[in-house]
Amino acid sequence: MLDSRTRTYNVTAVVLRSRPLGEKDRVVVLFSREAGKLDAVAKGARQPKSKLAAGTQPFTLARFALARGRTLQVVTQCVIEESFYALHEDLSKIAWGAYVLELMDAATPPHQHDEALFDLLVSTLRWMGATDDPELVTRAFELRLLNALGYAPALTECAVCGRTVSDSLVAFSARWGGALCAADAAQRGHRGKISQGTLRTAAALSGSKGDALQRLRLTPQVRTELRGLMNDFLTQRLEVRLKAREFLVKVME
Ligand SMILES: [Zn+2]
Repeated sequence: MLDSRTRTYNVTAVVLRSRPLGEKDRVVVLFSREAGKLDAVAKGARQPKSKLAAGTQPFTLARFALARGRTLQVVTQCVIEESFYALHEDLSKIAWGAYVLELMDAATPPHQHDEALFDLLVSTLRWMGATDDPELVTRAFELRLLNALGYAPALTECAVCGRTVSDSLVAFSARWGGALCAADAAQRGHRGKISQGTLRTAAALSGSKGDALQRLRLTPQVRTELRGLMNDFLTQRLEVRLKAREFLVKVME
């Protein structure tokens, strides 16, 4: 447990983001196993000889020693545990991985301890390094992230009436929270169609049994539909989240 009076403490964390501060320093946003998302200043990290230079790059998994300053916390030491080299060998994996980090940052509130989310992030980055389909790994991450945050889309039953007959699900609506049966899609004027294969694949990807998915192959149709479905759903859900935060800020003023 972290004690708020402790001035220095250690966390194991992945660097989600890193930006320059002045000429010598960096601000890093970390997702830690012990304390969720947090940011800290790494003094001197922009200087090539700094011991903090390598460990404060995005994607790095490291053990960080942090000290609480008056306004910001400071990285005093970092020991790299994993750099995800396999992921760095492929430009497309770097791009998909960068999206994973950005989404993790955008979707999670600061200072909220969630070890399952930390494990999800680390296992996703490892899987990304090993896979030949980084988009599939990203889709699985998105769905599991939504599950963990309590925003899971309905995939095996109608989001409105709850019917589970799989061949009756014909559409997907981010607005209504997931799959729709023919009657509810028609009633709501929802025209977009979705295939059973896409809904089944999304349901499989959102489950926690990662090993069974290693050999999963997406057809072009499923890939395209999944891309559209996740894009719509994340836009809808994250917007809800940001609005909720604005509302909270107003209430707390
Ligand atoms: Zn229905």
